Amino acid sequence: MLLYNSYSARKEEFVIPTDRPVTVYVCGVTPYDTTHMGHARTYLVFDVLIRYLRWKGAEVIYCQNVTDIDDPLFERAKRDGVDWRKLAELHTAQFLDDTMAMNMLRPTYYPKASHEIPSMIEIIEHLVAEGYAYVREGNVYYSIDRAEAFGQMAQMNYEQLLETANERGNNPNDPFKEDPLDFVLWQRSKNDEPIWESPWGPGRPGWHIECSAMATRYLGEQIDIHGGGRDLIFPHHSCEIAQSEPYTGKQPFARIWMHTGLVWLGEAKMSKSLGNLVFVRDALMQYDPNVLRWYLLNFSYRKDFSYEEKGVAYTQVRVERVRQALHVSGGSGEELEIEQVRTEFDMHMSNNLRTPYALNALLAGAELVLAAAAEGRTVTAAQSLLVDITEAIGLRLS
Ligand SMILES: [Zn+2]
Repeated sequence: MLLYNSYSARKEEFVIPTDRPVTVYVCGVTPYDTTHMGHARTYLVFDVLIRYLRWKGAEVIYCQNVTDIDDPLFERAKRDGVDWRKLAELHTAQFLDDTMAMNMLRPTYYPKASHEIPSMIEIIEHLVAEGYAYVREGNVYYSIDRAEAFGQMAQMNYEQLLETANERGNNPNDPFKEDPLDFVLWQRSKNDEPIWESPWGPGRPGWHIECSAMATRYLGEQIDIHGGGRDLIFPHHSCEIAQSEPYTGKQPFARIWMHTGLVWLGEAKMSKSLGNLVFVRDALMQYDPNVLRWYLLNFSYRKDFSYEEKGVAYTQVRVERVRQALHVSGGSGEELEIEQVRTEFDMHMSNNLRTPYALNALLAGAELVLAAAAEGRTVTAAQSLLVDITEAIGLRLS
């Protein structure tokens, strides 16, 4: 199949392996708040990718992590006067409830960063020993001078990289850093932050090393598809490459880097800082999960889009047509044959997951079934074909 690789900035042929499982790693949430549409869209795209790979006969091993060591989680716990572990557990459980309500597949592995410290320390020790990282006063930094083409995937110059990193949590004024873009592998914990022991003293890991450690531990030194929202390309995924490749000695760390576009509300990106979030559980009080799934998949996964209630409402009609087609009783006349619907669905999905077109093919198939049933034709085989497609895209309509 063809998949757009953010690393090479073009569509590439991804040959689905038949002699081994496909490995997929998707960066998970920081569990301190409720699941919003931006999250739902990202995890839904990977849910559909995995369903499609399985539909094509592949075995898929899917790892999604929980980022339960992260500044926003600790800050929220402090603000609310609650234990960070309890807060993380609560929101992880809620996230899983929301994704289950949306009929998303459970990952094969679902590791929590806080349980994976030894593998992070092992990678950091290796990077220090090989001169990729340096230790200052209990902190360990990655030296971007040593990285091969650091930030290449972001396609930005140094100034743009630095500006972007600063917007996303980098501290360029850290006096211990040799370069303002060097990033933290291990840091001394601030007062009343959680602490783990390490060879460099008590502290906690940086965010990027968490994913390098979990991805290599659960999926191996090289993974097939690594995904996340587009805002993770830099610095998060670029830092993962810089850490993982010298550690394993293997390139590339991920064969395909796959990124989803962002969800907006009106004129602004949906974000916690702006407070303009639409939560999945609120939307599900109003709409059938199949409707929400169809609506979110009706945009090309790499594109940004603005969430609109009227769009969701409009989608209801389409979902209802497919549901009717699956339940309609035909007659005993000439059998309807719609094999071309399966071919068309497959063609669009294998072309970089063109879900809007794949859904149109499904809808067209449903219309054929409804028309044929009205003429008294036999539609049972066509209905089974439609069921097979709805399952491949995660709709539960039969
Ligand atoms: Zn990650």
